[in-house]
Amino acid sequence: MAQQQGQPVIILREGSTRTRGRDAQGMNLMAARAVAEAVRTTLGPKGMDKMLVDSLGDVVITNDGVTILKEMDIEHPAAKMIVEIAKTQDDEVGDGTTTAVVLAGELLKKSEGLLDQDVHPTVIAHGYRQAATKAREILESLSFPVTLKDEGLVKKFTITAMTGKGAEAVGEKLADLCVKSVKAVVDESGNVDVDDIMVVKKVGGTIGDSELIEGIVIDKERIHPNMPKTVKNAKIALLDCPMEIEKTEIDAKIEITSPDQLQSFLDQEEKMLKDMVEKVKKIGANVVFCQKGVDDLVQHYLAKSGILAARRVKESDLKKIAKATGARVSTSIDELAKEDIGVSGLVEERKIGDEAMIFIEKCKDPKAVSLILRGGTEHVVDELERAVHDALRVVGVVVEDKKYVVGGGACEIELALRLKEYASTVGGREQLAIEAFAEAMEVIPRTLSENAGLDPIDALVSLRSKHEGKNAMKTAGINVFTGESVDMKKEGVVEPLRVKTQAISGASEAAIMILRIDDVIAASKLSG
Ligand code: ADP
Repeated sequence: MAQQQGQPVIILREGSTRTRGRDAQGMNLMAARAVAEAVRTTLGPKGMDKMLVDSLGDVVITNDGVTILKEMDIEHPAAKMIVEIAKTQDDEVGDGTTTAVVLAGELLKKSEGLLDQDVHPTVIAHGYRQAATKAREILESLSFPVTLKDEGLVKKFTITAMTGKGAEAVGEKLADLCVKSVKAVVDESGNVDVDDIMVVKKVGGTIGDSELIEGIVIDKERIHPNMPKTVKNAKIALLDCPMEIEKTEIDAKIEITSPDQLQSFLDQEEKMLKDMVEKVKKIGANVVFCQKGVDDLVQHYLAKSGILAARRVKESDLKKIAKATGARVSTSIDELAKEDIGVSGLVEERKIGDEAMIFIEKCKDPKAVSLILRGGTEHVVDELERAVHDALRVVGVVVEDKKYVVGGGACEIELALRLKEYASTVGGREQLAIEAFAEAMEVIPRTLSENAGLDPIDALVSLRSKHEGKNAMKTAGINVFTGESVDMKKEGVVEPLRVKTQAISGASEAAIMILRIDDVIAASKLSG
């Protein structure tokens, strides 16, 4: 049937919205840049913190890019793509999240200028891609080798990673703890799984009271005061079932007609509970960690038998104990067998501040280590945990890749200069895009100096002049405390190569993806 002229053909569901062409690009660029702008002021050692309050009133105070973005309730689809960069950066290297996001924001800002000059988005995308590949090559050529043997240098990576995050005051001490923990878990082929390092937060004391334990720490007390506090040569049983008589699911009535019956009923129950303890004793266990509840009577019998026990231990903790001691988690007491027992040299309840915790030390698996983080308030400990998380990952990455670059904007300035040279060899319209990419790199030193209250133009001019000419110093970066351009290698401001290469890859890919969109079709919001 012929369509009557002038009548619209509706191909989208009612309520859907559609934005096309330059409007769509404009909106996407604006939203994505707004997100990048939000974290910009946190970059660098002098970056500020953000206080995020969720709908329930819970407060998070942080300087960590990925945490800020995760907590923000972002709706715009293009803005969400920027958040993804931070998440990927965090997954891949654990640090450099703000850098990646700020870079993406600047790449998009520069592309707006090109779009205004009628450079087609696919040309910009192509140029950006070429520039990103070249940038990774240049970074590789700017990198230096490092091994775990050079402990002094490795510590510096953790200090750079933790800058700006409350932990600086005791940076040396934390750096030491982080390097020691990574050393303990690195395997023969040089791989590091930081999940092997158990991080335990305990509010109280000061950050400086944080310590490294060679073993596992669980935030539980022994359940009965008569249980031993210390068990040497521990034989550990792990239970994923209650040490109680489980209530039947069906309501049942038992009619008791005489006192004897009642007594025998109670005796029966007591025997069942006693049998549980007997079973544990029979297989030779002297320590029990139970994921569920433990009956009072069982507690009493366990204590009488000199067995140390803890209840309601987290499943994740049970798994860690299992890995460290070679124990197997049993799902029923009846099935508990000698082979399920794990061993450790020492299980002990000790006090951390005012609270008791159970330490499982001298484990079969020497890779089991725990970091106990202390701090005055919950917010301090939480931010400390994030800083330590970054630091551990960074050491892990450096140990795996064995390559590092210097920070303080040194790499970015060098990239800006070299990419500009490269652009002139490419020619064509892509040249414009590569030049824009090169200029975008300067956002890092510029933001570092802005956040430090320095004049960004002076700082950039001074940096550029150090990087150019006959006596060029490729490692010159901004000393954010004095504003001078100094050798970052000497200053010890160092970062793993992977932090920078991943930031450039993530930022350029996201920018390209956002740029190539020229049509946004949004379904209507489902109500209710
Ligand atoms: P990110 O989330 O990207 O790691 P940070 O807030 O940790 O963000 O800031 C990292 C930036 O700060 C890097 O460019 C790094 O080189 C720079 N930086 C860290 N410490 C110093 C320092 N002492 N002097 C100058 N720049 C520093």
